Amino acid sequence: MSSFWDKQIERADELAADSSGSKELLNFYAQLLRAQKEIYDAFRGRTHWLPSGELETDVTVVQASMSGLLQRVARNGPESLAGEAQALLNTESNAMATDLLNYWRSPSDTQFFAKSVLQPYLHWLAETRITPIGRELAGGERTCPFCGGKPQVSFLQSRDSESGNRDLLCAGCLCSWEFRRVVCANCGEERPAKLGYFHSPEFDHIRIEACDTCKHYIKGIDLTRFGHAVPLVDEIHAAPLDLWAREHGYTKIELNLIGV
Ligand SMILES: [Zn+2]
Ligand SMILES: [Zn+2]
Repeated sequence: MSSFWDKQIERADELAADSSGSKELLNFYAQLLRAQKEIYDAFRGRTHWLPSGELETDVTVVQASMSGLLQRVARNGPESLAGEAQALLNTESNAMATDLLNYWRSPSDTQFFAKSVLQPYLHWLAETRITPIGRELAGGERTCPFCGGKPQVSFLQSRDSESGNRDLLCAGCLCSWEFRRVVCANCGEERPAKLGYFHSPEFDHIRIEACDTCKHYIKGIDLTRFGHAVPLVDEIHAAPLDLWAREHGYTKIELNLIGV
């Protein structure tokens, strides 16, 4: 059975093999996904253990699962992250546990290590239907109904139902939820004149969905045009579109794991 993680890894390897501009990013992301899969497998494989849903209770297990990820980042990551990973491997301190708990209560897309390890943890919670506890997140339709995370990427897929066929994929638990099609995923703006799309022939199935009211954007992956795409990974592949968005004054709702 091909798991969620295998699907992401396979697509990242495939896209990295293309000699395009985002090769380096995709190679690194493929390594990260492998590390996340190992973390997820370690949670799943623990005998007589299920997550409690309260990170404070589970933090020792979560922290103990990180060494493989830290080693991969120390070996393959960009210089600054590699250095941080090495430093974390060398210390016995509780600093990482504090970081994890801070991220849990108030996530930030720049907390790379906490986000990397808590994605598989939250994904495992979602699969075992154990509700995350102790988070102080905004809520509402523009955040994940399961874990409260922000949307990482939006995608379109054909569905039988005639209305909404747009989903948002959560930056926390990596699950998706249905969302209306012509609405800003950040501020809820609905006036079409305020919502803009940018598209480049290089990425036929990917576009920037930007809002002129809050000046935020998210990338949209159109699976009806290209069903083989994997939103989380194709989003990274289309990194050149982020450049366009930034140059036009838009801020991403949530940076992806590799910081783009
Ligand atoms: Zn979520
Ligand atoms: Zn907006």
